[in-house]
Amino acid sequence: MKALVYRGPHDIRCESVPEPELPNERSAIVRVRAAGICGSDLHIYEGHGFVPGEGYTVGHEAVGVVEAIGSAVTNFSVGDDVFVCASIGCGHCPACARGQVILCENPTEAGVFGIGMGFGGCQAELVAVTAADTNLVALPEGVSDASALVLTDNAPTGWYGARLGRISYGDTVAVVGLGPVGLMAVNAALLMGASSVFAIDPIPSRQAQAVALGAVAVVGDPVTDIMQATSGRGVNVVIEAVGADDTIHLATNIAGRCGRVSVVGINQRNDFPFNMLLAQVKALEFTIGLCSVQYELPALLSLTTAGRLDPGSIVTDHYALADGADAYARFAARDNGVSKVVLDVFT
Ligand code: NAD
Ligand code: ZN
Ligand code: ZN
Repeated sequence: MKALVYRGPHDIRCESVPEPELPNERSAIVRVRAAGICGSDLHIYEGHGFVPGEGYTVGHEAVGVVEAIGSAVTNFSVGDDVFVCASIGCGHCPACARGQVILCENPTEAGVFGIGMGFGGCQAELVAVTAADTNLVALPEGVSDASALVLTDNAPTGWYGARLGRISYGDTVAVVGLGPVGLMAVNAALLMGASSVFAIDPIPSRQAQAVALGAVAVVGDPVTDIMQATSGRGVNVVIEAVGADDTIHLATNIAGRCGRVSVVGINQRNDFPFNMLLAQVKALEFTIGLCSVQYELPALLSLTTAGRLDPGSIVTDHYALADGADAYARFAARDNGVSKVVLDVFT
């Protein structure tokens, strides 16, 4: 089959690789109809992936059709339309039972597809899904493939970031970074009752997408503009969706007293210089984590099927799987006008 393979920094190739086999009787094979490229894939692309080495298939967002099913899978049948959760768990430990698959107690059966740790990538014609009853979701009627792809990861992560920020009705919120995750965080904050959401990103088209969702674009210096807009108080909640040192510092600067800073951008440093005094003086709360997609999905599926959330609206670009190298280059360049990029595998 064809799949995108990481061959080194800025080198993603569409190659022929062996087809996956059912890992065990609780698994499924999904024929991928479309796959998304995530900001997390860019960490790999830029050469600071999550494991050393190259030669593995990439991608953790897919929608498609069940091609083969293990005998112990109860919720799905061959031919079902499904999407794959980016976060995968064993399905039988207490954390998985709660939906918190990222906290799965069986690390060899848990993780994320396509980041080099044993689970094949989703940017491929076929993907093997372990613990299918836990890690697959039936595609609800009326939900488009574009929306399903955003529901595999970006929408749950934005929602999770907003939820960790414990947004109360009337809170002021800032979202730093308006990639697909940040845009979904803007949406989540407004749905949770934020009075104003200030949207911070240097890319004009991403600012415009946030404004279309109901945010206020910050076009000048973020600290000056946010302080001016909040009478010098800072915002109640900041959701950081970049993962850079500067933007985490910015988030702690624009949060007001008793502010809550929620970081979902991935930062791989283990020696981050945190301004402890500033945080202590302001009595900040700081939360950080990885999203368990399964935990966030019930709310998001209800909102989507009810028409109150349109995750697919952030998709801007479609590429064929064979043109995956171009798709990565375009998304990584963060060209004005490019936001969520989808790879169409079969129609
Ligand atoms: P992305 O990486 O394209 O989004 C990042 C955005 O940040 C871009 O729009 C960029 O212009 C903006 N940015 C860069 N520097 C900035 C600055 N100084 N100020 C403001 N904005 C700035 O794509 P994404 O898919 O939205 O991913 C965002 C982050 O979320 C990545 O780090 C990704 O790894 C992470 N992520 C985390 C989880 C999780 O479970 N915590 C899940 C998915 C993605
Ligand atoms: Zn992701
Ligand atoms: Zn588990």
